[in-house]
Amino acid sequence: MQVASTRKVSEKESRRRAKACDRGVAIADPMGLRQRLRRWYARARRDLPWRRSRDPYGVWVSEVMLQQTQVERVKDFYARFMRRFPTVHDLAAAREADVLKHWEGLGYYRRARQLHAAAKAVVADHGGVFPRSVEGLRGLPGIGRYTAGAIASIAFDVPAPIVEANSRRVLARVADHGDPVGGAGDEPIWTIAEALVPRRGAGVFNQALMDLGAMICTPDRPLCSRCPLGRDCGALAAGRVDEIPVVAAPKKAKHLRETAVVNRRGNRVLVVQRRADEWWEGLWDFPREPARASGRRIGQVAYTVTHHRIECRIVERRTETAQTGGRWVAIASLGRLAMTSPGRRIASLLASREEEHVRR
Ligand code: SF4
Repeated sequence: MQVASTRKVSEKESRRRAKACDRGVAIADPMGLRQRLRRWYARARRDLPWRRSRDPYGVWVSEVMLQQTQVERVKDFYARFMRRFPTVHDLAAAREADVLKHWEGLGYYRRARQLHAAAKAVVADHGGVFPRSVEGLRGLPGIGRYTAGAIASIAFDVPAPIVEANSRRVLARVADHGDPVGGAGDEPIWTIAEALVPRRGAGVFNQALMDLGAMICTPDRPLCSRCPLGRDCGALAAGRVDEIPVVAAPKKAKHLRETAVVNRRGNRVLVVQRRADEWWEGLWDFPREPARASGRRIGQVAYTVTHHRIECRIVERRTETAQTGGRWVAIASLGRLAMTSPGRRIASLLASREEEHVRR
């Protein structure tokens, strides 16, 4: 894989480029690139709460939260989670409902369950000490190639590469990589990352790549004129910045309709726990029925899960009937349960109706 460049170079630089073959991938000037990136990071890095320590537990929690969730949103969740579970031992000893409650609002609850399971494994199988190698980390539940590389490099300075949305974009552009990325298409990007990650200072290098992707090499209108890698960038030299990375078209959203039923007994309502074969396993929600189910219509919520767009009518019924796995809960106490995001919105609607009723 060759980093393309149409920029005219000196004879000396040409010779250096010809010789530069860094761990199997030809990169024009990998040392210079690392240096430029490191200098830029030293002055421009984002001040993020999880960067104040290299404790592998904190690095791990932040990395799991950052999958699918934006940095600004993660800041508060991270602080709250770390206050409640300050060490891997605290997390391992916690009840699952408590972990899910502290994950509420971040979505993708499978991540929280796996975090919990991995904490138990670290305590039970590793005496509470995180494995330092990528292989050891990948043996833990829910820790994949990216997360293992991030923990190993940031916490232990292991020269492990990482590829996530930001670094993928930077690397694809620097290498002028015009093939689709994502899934199996990321393999060449991993090869580039592997070639570039330094033997010392890997954590700083990886974080710098991510920051560069977040702050300078953005998806739209990257700030190439302010980029420390301008001279290394194949896409810039080839005039293809807007075309790279090539991303496969997202799946079309599937539209569904359903009804959420608020079964009511006085000021208590029936909630059910989502099963293992459903979205949001283990969280509480209002029972669902087909779109035309009967009941007094009290509202509507729309939400998106994976590539499904769901329109959900909310109806109320006065009933005494329980459901398997159901629990009658006072409306005022719904806030204590770990609920799905539509369930939480329905609970808020019920709480506002109650308040209005009291005011009248
Ligand atoms: S020069 Fe532009 S496209 Fe290339 S890495 Fe920098 S910001 Fe990204």
